[in-house]
Amino acid sequence: MPGKRGTLNGSRQGRAASRFEPARLRKHGATPRVSLAAWSLAAGKAVVFAAILGTGTGAGVALGGRPHVGRNGVGGEWGHNPLPWTTSEETPGPDCYCGKRGCLETWVSGTGFENDYARLTGTRLPGPDIAARAEAGEPAAVTALQRYADRLARGLAHVIGILDPDVIVLGGGMSNVSALYRLIPEQWGRWVFGAEVDTPLRPALHGDSSGVRGAAWLWGECSQ
Ligand SMILES: [Zn+2]
Repeated sequence: MPGKRGTLNGSRQGRAASRFEPARLRKHGATPRVSLAAWSLAAGKAVVFAAILGTGTGAGVALGGRPHVGRNGVGGEWGHNPLPWTTSEETPGPDCYCGKRGCLETWVSGTGFENDYARLTGTRLPGPDIAARAEAGEPAAVTALQRYADRLARGLAHVIGILDPDVIVLGGGMSNVSALYRLIPEQWGRWVFGAEVDTPLRPALHGDSSGVRGAAWLWGECSQ
């Protein structure tokens, strides 16, 4: 539907305003730009990319301790880039609320993980339960987690190819899945040009509450 593509409500000004609506922040688990900037300052990292992997997928970029929002206000809208290097089974991908199909959000959000497990098994479970089943060795859960890690590795490989950040930070519910910090770096060599990747992948400083914290701070700034 053409009317749903690109912008969420028509004008650029409207789009900028929509970025800070509480409903949008709630839907995405928040864009973590403010907490990200504070984190990058504290950690002394020049270039930081953070992704919040919760109900939806938010992301943010900090450069020199400052959030980078960008000329069009869409810096960090990585969740609505397409999943890269898709297989035939991943094409065209699930419908995204933004009007496109196959956005990263539909694959690497916690909801995307749950949907993939449901596709494999016909059973719908919360993400933490699926992760626990994977750890216990349930084959379908192991497959879902490996596919999830591979997709996230591909999505983050694109980020490395453009930004080559000093660190990549994960927040949101999926950031609690410890296996990801092993599985994703193992995959990066397949997807990043030159194959040698030593980018640190870390959980957010405040765990999966970082997105919420970022939302609160953003909302406080923008409503003044
Ligand atoms: Zn989308």
